Amino acid sequence: MTDMLFKDSEKIKVKVGTVVFGEGAPVMIAGPCAVESIEQLRASIEPIKDKIDIIRGGAFKPRTSPYSFQGLKEEGLKILKKASEEFSLPFVTEVVTAEDVLLVAKYADMLQIGARNMQNFALLTAAGKSGKPVLLKRGISATLDEWFHAAEYVLKEGNQNVVLCERGIRSFDTTTRNVLDLAGAVFAKQNTCLPVITDPSHGTGVKSLIGPMIKASNACGLDGVIVEVHADPGNAVSDGAQSFTPEEFLKAIN
Ligand code: PEP
Ligand code: MN
Repeated sequence: MTDMLFKDSEKIKVKVGTVVFGEGAPVMIAGPCAVESIEQLRASIEPIKDKIDIIRGGAFKPRTSPYSFQGLKEEGLKILKKASEEFSLPFVTEVVTAEDVLLVAKYADMLQIGARNMQNFALLTAAGKSGKPVLLKRGISATLDEWFHAAEYVLKEGNQNVVLCERGIRSFDTTTRNVLDLAGAVFAKQNTCLPVITDPSHGTGVKSLIGPMIKASNACGLDGVIVEVHADPGNAVSDGAQSFTPEEFLKAIN
């Protein structure tokens, strides 16, 4: 069986509601790392709603420590759905186990599979079977080939709606949180049939670098970016240090 991912045939366009990845114009995804309340989500999205295509927000959070906030789970999904309806924007949210795929798919427009789960093959297969568009983050130390073959697990289930997301890889240098592998992202775009976006927030972890990396990603002809925005980053339950305020976001994309 040959990999579908590398077919030279037409590039795949991935539709999420009326938003299309792979059609030329970069897609802007933004929102908080984690959903905390409807008020928090509204305050984060309202000022930027005209500049974004898709809302992001985690309801199931994969955390390094089991004692850190794990997400509002189904309540978080309901909050995302409410905001999505209020702003008429689709939303992407992470699913961390195969068992949760049906629940998350009931609410979400797009399923995010996170870096820590990139090679969770049961999860990839379940996401493939769900038929929902999938945003597949690159693993923290994954080679490009491992990332591509993780995507192949989803495609193998008959679900071609996969968007690859380069979110930074771990290196010897800890000055930035991760190293955003823009060349790797462009390689993915050139050598697979899938749309490719970047995550400059996790990819750098440094606010002053996010704007330049958004521009670099767009200049490379990639298919979009996903950016963390929080109305009150100082009090965010996760990733506050790398989260833009809505005002900072608007400045950064100008
Ligand atoms: C996130 O998007 O908040 C997240 C946890 O991303 P990653 O899996 O890339 O670390
Ligand atoms: Mn985050």
